[in-house]
Amino acid sequence: MEDFVADTDYWTGSVQWEFTVKSAYELRCGATVCDDGKLWQTIHNYKGLQRIKIFLWLACLGRVLTNSERVRRHLAENANCIVCGALVEDVNHVVRWCPQAIGAWSSVIKLSFLSRFLSMDFKEWVHMNLSDAARMVSNPDNWDLLFGAICWNLWLGRNAVVFDNPLEDRGTVLERSRRLVERCLMAFGTAAPELVVQMRNGATGCTATELKLQQCMAEGWFFANSDAGCRIEDGSATCGGVIRNHEGRWVRGITKFIGVCSALEAEAWGAYMILLVARNLGINRIVLLLDCMEVVRLANLEYLPPGALTIMMYFREILSYDWCIEVHHIDRKRNRLAHDLAKLADGSSLCPIHFPHPPDSFVMSDYANGIG
Ligand SMILES: [Zn+2]
Repeated sequence: MEDFVADTDYWTGSVQWEFTVKSAYELRCGATVCDDGKLWQTIHNYKGLQRIKIFLWLACLGRVLTNSERVRRHLAENANCIVCGALVEDVNHVVRWCPQAIGAWSSVIKLSFLSRFLSMDFKEWVHMNLSDAARMVSNPDNWDLLFGAICWNLWLGRNAVVFDNPLEDRGTVLERSRRLVERCLMAFGTAAPELVVQMRNGATGCTATELKLQQCMAEGWFFANSDAGCRIEDGSATCGGVIRNHEGRWVRGITKFIGVCSALEAEAWGAYMILLVARNLGINRIVLLLDCMEVVRLANLEYLPPGALTIMMYFREILSYDWCIEVHHIDRKRNRLAHDLAKLADGSSLCPIHFPHPPDSFVMSDYANGIG
């Protein structure tokens, strides 16, 4: 504040002349804390993964189940950070102040801006990073995506420690986040040219899928869809899948709770589970449709790259059985049935729940033509 201001018997920092901490903060920092409407709109426009978008939204609402939030809800007695021992673990601590967070941010934020970056108002911070952080970051390309991915991976990393459930996808927060951004860009079709070419060779193109599907619409063939889901309460993963016959009639649906794991792992689980069910039903001609390009790519590779997920190995083993099977990519919009099944998993059991008939809550006419 300015040093020489005339004394008044009212607070000059707000229009109502009433003192609030917020107005004092704004006066002190000379910045306006961004208004919430703009913030929600910015988060809404986030073009990365849905689960990251939801995480950022919950983080700004202060609803992420960190230890301090668990204490507030009388679910826990201790608000400490289990990772570093800090007294209060709130979402700001997890994604900004915990040592691994500081480590990640300090490699991507310009040094001269780091302390401002780490100390600004949380909501303003999220808003800035999703809208315009070019002056603070070393490389502004797709920064909004990388920012979201780093926050998300910090949260996953924290959960892996708290629940003693190591992440399958090893590597630093930054490495995992960059891989996530790459996968996002691949899904948008804006990845580096060589990646796009590779995908076309892998026959994951949608036109190719359409053609194949036409050919396979014959009696004796079955279609399976699978998808991963994410519970917004705690970010834990679920998966779901459905098998239908060549006429689009329901044969079997499943849903399964997985727990904390990467999105890719959850997608692979979904694909594996539904094929296991198909085997058990004695099906021997099947087309598996997923909306995760990465799993489709890994399914169609001749060899898995070293360090691949264990579940991916199981999935590929089942692909190698003696049956006619094809794995194709499908647009997310046409994979809604599997997606909605994934949302039914409730976490009470790790065993898959089977649906010999469509769940009562589903309006089957909403899911067009047996594929979508
Ligand atoms: Zn900590």
